[in-house]
Amino acid sequence: MQLTGSQYIGSSTSLKGDHFFQAINPVTGEDLPGQYADATSEEIDAAVALAEAAFSAYGKSNNIARAEFLEAIADEIMALGDDLIARAMEETALPEGRLVGERGRTVGQLRLFAKVVREGSWVDARIDPALPDREPLPRSDIRQMLQPLGPVAVFGASNFPLAFSVAGGDTASALASGCTVVIKGHPAHPGTSELVFRAILAAGIKTGMPDGVASLIHGAGHAPGMHLVQHSLIQAVGFTGSFKGGKALFDLANNRPFPIPVFAEMGSTNPVFILPGALEERGSKIAEGLAASVTLGVGQFCTNPGMVLMEKNMAASFKATLADKIKVNPGGTMLTKGIRQAYEGGIRRLSETTEVALLSEGEADSSATGAPAKIFTTTTGKLKSNPELAEEIFGPSSILIEADEREELIESAKLLDGHLTATVHGTPSDLQEYQDLIAILERKVGRIIINGFPTGVEVCHAMVHGGPYPATTNAQSTSVGTNAIKRFARPVCYQDFPDSLLPDALKHENPLNIWRLVDGDLKKE
Ligand code: NAP
Repeated sequence: MQLTGSQYIGSSTSLKGDHFFQAINPVTGEDLPGQYADATSEEIDAAVALAEAAFSAYGKSNNIARAEFLEAIADEIMALGDDLIARAMEETALPEGRLVGERGRTVGQLRLFAKVVREGSWVDARIDPALPDREPLPRSDIRQMLQPLGPVAVFGASNFPLAFSVAGGDTASALASGCTVVIKGHPAHPGTSELVFRAILAAGIKTGMPDGVASLIHGAGHAPGMHLVQHSLIQAVGFTGSFKGGKALFDLANNRPFPIPVFAEMGSTNPVFILPGALEERGSKIAEGLAASVTLGVGQFCTNPGMVLMEKNMAASFKATLADKIKVNPGGTMLTKGIRQAYEGGIRRLSETTEVALLSEGEADSSATGAPAKIFTTTTGKLKSNPELAEEIFGPSSILIEADEREELIESAKLLDGHLTATVHGTPSDLQEYQDLIAILERKVGRIIINGFPTGVEVCHAMVHGGPYPATTNAQSTSVGTNAIKRFARPVCYQDFPDSLLPDALKHENPLNIWRLVDGDLKKE
C-alpha cells in the first residue's frame, strides 16, 4: 500500500513542511521507506478549523450513526489486512503475534464503544421534574446530561502502535462521545499511523460522517504537538507517553488563556507487595510470574512491575528463582533508539546508587535497540532516603526492596507517589492481616490486583487505567475501558426547556429508552 507521507486535513492531503523524518527499523537501525514532514502551523490550524466545523454536525449525530461509524472504523482496520501488520512490525519490532493481538484489542475497543453509544445511557441523564406546588418556592424542571466537548487533540503512543495510537483508546472514546479529533501521530510509526488513519477516513465516508471528524498530523519535534495543544479551539487532550512529555503538555494547556483538561497517562512503577505467608508458601512460583511480567514486551508497558516490596526473612527462594529466570531471558528489541537510551540511563542511575545491588541480568540482544533484563535489590531504608529509586525505568527491569519488618513495609507504602496499579500477593490470612496496606494503596493507585500481575489491561466497563499524579494528570478518569468516554464530555443542565427543544436523552417520553435518574430513582420509563 502506497504511503503518501502527508498530513491529512480531514480527507485532504497536504505537504507544506520542510522538516522531514523517516521511520527507523529498530532491529537494523535503517530508515524505512516513506518520508514524512512535521506539520506546519497553517496545516494544524486548518485541521483544527475543520474539526470545529465538523463538530457542529458530528456532535449532534445520533447514537446509531455514531456507533455505525465506530464499527466501520473497526471493519476498515481489519480490511487493511497483512499490510498493516507488516508495516507495524517494521516500525516497532513488535512480533507479529503481539500486533495481531493488539489489532484485535483495537477493533474490539471500537466495537465496545459502539455498543456503549448505541445503548446510550452513558450520558448520565438526570431529571428533576418541576414541583410547581412546592412551598415556600416552586421548583423548576431541571435536567442534565453529558455533552461532547468539541475538537480533541490525541497523541499516539509509541508502545501501542494500534491500541493507543491513531484509532486507539483515546480516539475511540473521543469519537464515541461525539467529539471530533486531531491526531498527532507518534513519529516512531508514521506509516502505521497513516494506514490506520486511512481506515478512519474510509469509514467516515462510508457512514456519511462530516469531513474533518478526524485529521492526522505528523511531527518528529515538539513544535506541532505544542501548537495543537495551544490552539484555542482544542477543548481537551488525550496523551500516553513519558512523564516529561505529558507534564509539558499539561503545563502548556494550563497556561493557555482558556485552560483545557489534559488526560495524560504517564506511566508508573506499579509496586508489587509480596506478603510473608505468600512468600513462604509459593515464593518461587511468584518469582516465575514476576520474571514473565517484567520482561513481557521487553518491559515496554506502563503497567510493568518496576518495584517489588517484601519482608526480608522469607525472600531467599523467591530471589533465587527470579535471578535464574532473568539470567536466561534472551532480551529483546526496544521500540526506538530514544527509548533504549532512556532505559540505559535509568539502569546506569540505579547501578551507580550506593546500596543498590544487581541481583541478576539477562542476555544481551544484538539488534540496534536491543536491551537486557535487569533486577536490582535494595532496602526500604535506602528507598526512604532516595525516593528517586521508585521512579519508572521504562523497560525490562525491576528493583526488589526488602524490609526488616512489617512496619517498614507499611511505611514504604505510605511514601509511594501515585501509580497506575499496585499488586498484593498474599494468603487469605496475609490479606486479612494487611488490610491497612490495602487501605493505603486505595489512595495511591487506580487498580489493585490480588495474587496476579499488573501487565495485561482488560478493555471492559469496570477497568481503571489511571491513578493519582504523577501516574496521570487527572486521577478522576481512566484511559482504558468504557468510562474513558466521560473524559471528553461535560454536564450541561437544561432548566424549564419545552420538550421539543430538549435533547432526545432528556425528552419526557424517553425516546432513546435509556436509563435515567428521575427524581433520584434510576429508571427507563
Ligand atoms: P514521549 O517522548 O512522551 O512522546 C509521546 C508523544 O508526545 C510524541 O508524539 C511526542 O512527539 C510528543 N511530545 C513529547 N514531549 C513533548 C513536548 N514537550 N511538547 C510537545 N509534544 C511532545 O514518549 P515516547 O516517545 O513514546 O517515549 C519516550 C519515553 O516515554 C520512554 O522512554 C518511556 O519512559 C516513556 N513512555 C511511557 C509510556 C507509558 O505507557 N506511560 C509509553 C511510552 C513511552 P515529538 O517526539 O515529536 O515531540
